[in-house]
Amino acid sequence: PNPNPAPIVVLHACLGVGHLIPMVELAKLLLSRGLTVVIAVPTPPASTADFFASSASAIAALAAANPAVSFHHLPPPDYPIPDPDPFLQMLDALRLTVPALAAFLRSLPSVAALVLDLFCVDALDAAASTGVPAYIYYTSCAGDLAVFLHLPHYFAATDGGASFKDMGKALLRFPGVPPIPASDMPHTVLDRADRTCAMRLRHYGRIPEARGLLINTYEWLEARVVRALRNGVCVPGRPTPPVYPIGPLIVKGQDATAAGGEQRHACLAWLDSQPERSVVFLCFGSLGAVSAAQLKEIARGLESSGHRFLWVVRSPPDDPSKFFLSRPEPNLDALLPEGFLERTKDRGMVVKMWAPQVEVLRHAATGAFVTHCGWNSVLEAASAGVPMLCWPQYAEQRLNKVFVVDEMKVGVVVDGYDEVMVTAEEVEKKVRLVMESEEGEKLRERLALAKEKVAEALAEGGQSWVAFEEFLNDLKLAK
Ligand code: UDP
Repeated sequence: PNPNPAPIVVLHACLGVGHLIPMVELAKLLLSRGLTVVIAVPTPPASTADFFASSASAIAALAAANPAVSFHHLPPPDYPIPDPDPFLQMLDALRLTVPALAAFLRSLPSVAALVLDLFCVDALDAAASTGVPAYIYYTSCAGDLAVFLHLPHYFAATDGGASFKDMGKALLRFPGVPPIPASDMPHTVLDRADRTCAMRLRHYGRIPEARGLLINTYEWLEARVVRALRNGVCVPGRPTPPVYPIGPLIVKGQDATAAGGEQRHACLAWLDSQPERSVVFLCFGSLGAVSAAQLKEIARGLESSGHRFLWVVRSPPDDPSKFFLSRPEPNLDALLPEGFLERTKDRGMVVKMWAPQVEVLRHAATGAFVTHCGWNSVLEAASAGVPMLCWPQYAEQRLNKVFVVDEMKVGVVVDGYDEVMVTAEEVEKKVRLVMESEEGEKLRERLALAKEKVAEALAEGGQSWVAFEEFLNDLKLAK
């Protein structure tokens, strides 16, 4: 054996496509700088419901598409009586995986650092018990992170006060970010009395224990909040670890996960034959799907807008709270209004389940993006210079929507996202606004700038490049 093995950077991912993709991109960046990297992925315990049903196949696809990146599958934890709440089940499973992660770290000859997904914050214990420096890699925006860092303080200061769920659209003011309507806070912290809320606050309170915070964003897009994080104003009374906005780390295209495959997707050939910037692309992330009635309403709105569209359609979930379970392919004839496909066949394409989003967004024919505001989607759109119509659905997406619209100014909101139904009229109105109006033109100019700034940030000497250098230097110091 080599007497001086290269120190390994261990990345600890949680399950979920939206978390795995940017983790793999970070692995690739580290590899490109000559570091040895392994991604330690948890295995859901057999006793749990399949919270991230798509994760196993996503990991397999990501591993196949990125042969240079090695994955280590941690053993499933013993979890005989799973929590009835699927989200807590996932967090429990990650917490119960910490001893296996510590054992894995001990089994390696030399570990340079442990880099954790924010859901895996309990694994700070594995780092502490093995003497390995730990960093957190936050794969959503700096604005979210600033809010999360502040929340334990907010809850302590307002102890006994109202829960966000009872505050309607009252505006919350946190350092570094625009005012946030209480109803746009993530569902996990809406109810003070809820176990999930207590669990998340405990996690958020542990973030400052990390040696540094990597964020998949770029400073230009979130300048104010990055400054606030650096000035330490988000976490009162306690130092904030150094922040490293190293993004956007997004897939380059072609090596996207899942059903992309080797062959060029038919929707790209279809886009080839559409005029420049003429197509509205609709896609709600790796998990998003809307009700059957909402699908029909979207169809009506698209039809009456008269614009071209490329629409990724999934089967509506039987139970909206179980949106994360895998579902069968949609039956388009049954789901869409009668005659819709025929009437729009010259200007619209409906794709079942999955489209190669990065390539679609980069295609010259794509003019606007109706998005659920998953952070990878936002970064992909910003990098491609495509304006967003924000229709948040789950996780922290409402928060992202606030920042995308009010702070970054790279999108408009689709009203009704927080009601039972977004109307066809609203879909038509916002599509027209972005595609036809002067406001839409201004948005396009802003997005062109956002795209330019991405290239600048990632180029040698750019802000994200420098932040990554600083992180690498800190890694050397950490040992
Ligand atoms: N994605 C894709 N095709 C689809 C749906 C999603 O390529 O039909 C990719 C998308 O490009 C992004 C990721 O899956 O990289 C979704 O991540 P995001 O953070 O936007 O949302 P999440 O799935 O985590 O809600």
